[in-house]
Amino acid sequence: MTKPGVSGADIATPNRTKEIIRKHNFTFKKSLGQNFLVDKNILDKIVAAANLDETKGALEIGPGIGALTERLAREAGRVTAVEIDNRLIPILHDVLADYGNVSVVHADVLKTDLHRLWEERFAGCTDVSVVANLPYYVTTPIIMKLLEDGLPLESIVVMVQKEVAERMAAKPGTKDYGTLSIAVQYYCEPELVCVVPSGAFIPAPNVDSAVIRLKRRSRPAVEVADEASFFRVVHASFAQRRKTLGNNLTALSGKDRKAELAEVLSGCGIQPERRGETLSLREFADLTEALGRAGMLD
Ligand code: SAM
Repeated sequence: MTKPGVSGADIATPNRTKEIIRKHNFTFKKSLGQNFLVDKNILDKIVAAANLDETKGALEIGPGIGALTERLAREAGRVTAVEIDNRLIPILHDVLADYGNVSVVHADVLKTDLHRLWEERFAGCTDVSVVANLPYYVTTPIIMKLLEDGLPLESIVVMVQKEVAERMAAKPGTKDYGTLSIAVQYYCEPELVCVVPSGAFIPAPNVDSAVIRLKRRSRPAVEVADEASFFRVVHASFAQRRKTLGNNLTALSGKDRKAELAEVLSGCGIQPERRGETLSLREFADLTEALGRAGMLD
């Protein structure tokens, strides 16, 4: 694989970032979640968490003006960066011209066939990780796509809003625990890498951020016969957070089978008065099987 070429001054400093922005007359689009990282220490932590080497690949979502991309190019064998904003493409080609192992793709990641991208860009890599400072307005859809597409990923190391990182890592019985926690923890083991103050970005966002590492499990956390049914039960359980399971799950069983539903729940050792936020993944898996057996998921 090609080794990265020489590098200029690091992009991730306030001065260099401002210089690039001025040179290209770039104006930030808030609607695209454009907050560029200008803190080298945070980049060090992101790159270290991704555990890259020259046999591995990195997929970056939203490279901006290339602050993280250039660091990935120095560590990984191959880097593919998918950027939606066409104004950034010539800037990226300019600032990353020295790195032969980087390809920039102009696309919306949510509309990209990632399996095809894998075949075209990462053939021969021993492992591939997603490493990104995500646009906050689409964090959850991007994470869900990465998880559900069944890609051969080693890990996902991403900067997200701090509150979203807390939801991903939340344990049952806490206020942050919900459908995102369950989806993430079903596929991955989450680990908080660091909290990032808003001053690490230009322009500074209104919220604190955090870097989280999601290490892909070799197999899901719990075994389920049908994943779609499992997630249907999870979503129905959280449809109205204040409602008990005995009430929320009537959306699946039908109101006329409420008494039978209570029996199914009790049969799994789950009191119908409990709320979705108290159930572990194991309990959701057992409940899905039992509801299926009772014909409540047809
Ligand atoms: N990686 C850069 C950094 O750390 O400085 C920029 C991160 S900025 C938070 C998010 C980037 O994602 C922006 O460059 C934005 O244009 C891009 N973006 C937003 N929505 C996108 C999408 N759907 N697909 C690909 N890129 C997207």
